[in-house]
Amino acid sequence: MTESGWQLEHSYASLPEIFYKSAKPERAEFPEIVLFNWKLAETLGLDPRNLQTASGDVFSGNTIPDGGMPIAQAYAGHQFGSFTMLGDGRAILLGEQITPDGQRFDIQLKGAGRTAFSRMGDGRAPLGPMLREYIVSEAMHALGIPSTRALALVTTGEAVSRDRMLPGAVLTRVAESHMRVGTFEYAARTEGEGNVKILADYAIERHYPELAGEDDDEKYLKFLDAVIDRQASLISKWQLVGFIHGVMNTDNMTISGETIDYGPCAFMDTYDPEASFSSIDVNKRYRYRNQPGIAQWNLARFAETLLPLLDEDKEEAVQIAQDSLSAFGRLYNEYWQAGMRDKLGLVGGKADDDLAMELLDLMAHHKADYTQTFRALSLDDPDGVEFSDSERFNDWHGRWQERLEAQDATMEAAHMLMRSVNPAVIPRNHLVEEALDLAVEQGDYSKASKLIEVLTNPFDDGHDKEYKEPPEDDDKVHMTFCG
Ligand code: AMP
Ligand code: MG
Ligand code: MG
Repeated sequence: MTESGWQLEHSYASLPEIFYKSAKPERAEFPEIVLFNWKLAETLGLDPRNLQTASGDVFSGNTIPDGGMPIAQAYAGHQFGSFTMLGDGRAILLGEQITPDGQRFDIQLKGAGRTAFSRMGDGRAPLGPMLREYIVSEAMHALGIPSTRALALVTTGEAVSRDRMLPGAVLTRVAESHMRVGTFEYAARTEGEGNVKILADYAIERHYPELAGEDDDEKYLKFLDAVIDRQASLISKWQLVGFIHGVMNTDNMTISGETIDYGPCAFMDTYDPEASFSSIDVNKRYRYRNQPGIAQWNLARFAETLLPLLDEDKEEAVQIAQDSLSAFGRLYNEYWQAGMRDKLGLVGGKADDDLAMELLDLMAHHKADYTQTFRALSLDDPDGVEFSDSERFNDWHGRWQERLEAQDATMEAAHMLMRSVNPAVIPRNHLVEEALDLAVEQGDYSKASKLIEVLTNPFDDGHDKEYKEPPEDDDKVHMTFCG
């Protein structure tokens, strides 16, 4: 271990060489650390005091920490439905940090320059999108949604060329791993039969160790089932909180079940199943209500790569994979329903779908704010619901109250449960944009820091009004962009 607490290992580099290429961060001219996640650093076993002096250098990639071995990972992916060879074009993995309690986390620099996979890209990242990823990924974590984390944000002092010149930045991303569905798609297209099996064994060891001892004829099916289960759970959490990922390409779906790649993502203000914000998603392929279906489609691409491991007989293997994939819908519904019951304070196994569906229908009809509606109900403040004077709402509210009174829990317990799952604050697009603009235009991170602090306690009502309320019509963000 180094003085700063680095304890880097490189298990990924024990895979065959086709899975990665060594990489070298490009020098940043004037690196300056602008945000640092002290708490995360501590859980990683890093000593912030010792890191501090050299942090701009380390987290820009100018200095490789002791034990670091920078590589770029190879992968492929279906982007908007079409297959492409990809790879880390602007991300460099320094290694896997082993935490004091023995956990393993990838430490990756995003925007640190060109790699063997950069193709026509510059390997760089503009400050705005990296700051967005920092804010939203940390907000997701605080909401209890599995996600990659943000450890540090460094400005490079150099300009990046997009539609105009923008300040450049490097984000240090922390993940259980960066293996994606696209990594398996890549492995399946390489020569040499065994690459998918090698990758699957590695992924099992790292993310599903309880399966490692299984016989081969059971192991890979159980692995497929387990990844499907984690994704069903993850996507249900996105839906329940109103998160729209925006680029659900197979290269942006992890094997660990963490949310990854905060490009043109957005949280809904107004409840709208058709909501879509990404400027590049012209056909709204990745709109809110499509997310579960797209996840299942992506998992089918994953299952295809595992076919040779599921059965020697191709047709038999396809049947096994299809049976496994068909569980996604059921699992997703179970997770969603359980989460929705919590959002409504309902305990016990009764089928309460009608109550939930009708409330969502009312929200859609009245173009009501999704987050505020659930929070108002959690605070037992029906007047705080925008459509509280509608007759249908009063009728709904009456039936919901009856249901709450009839159940085996006090009202207080029901409201407490609701307040623990329905956030008071989310990273609303207009607030995120404001924080980004101030940072990019004026180098002022005060709004970003304050927003991160607020979002770290999403179930607290004590925040200033501006963080809780939906945007005025003029402030509404209708479109988000990739970096
Ligand atoms: P994304 O849409 O962020 O998932 O990125 C898709 C692919 O494009 C990944 O392989 C990235 O590494 C690559 N990429 C994105 N931006 C750049 C860039 N500025 N330079 C090189 N590669 C990039
Ligand atoms: Mg990506
Ligand atoms: Mg991206």
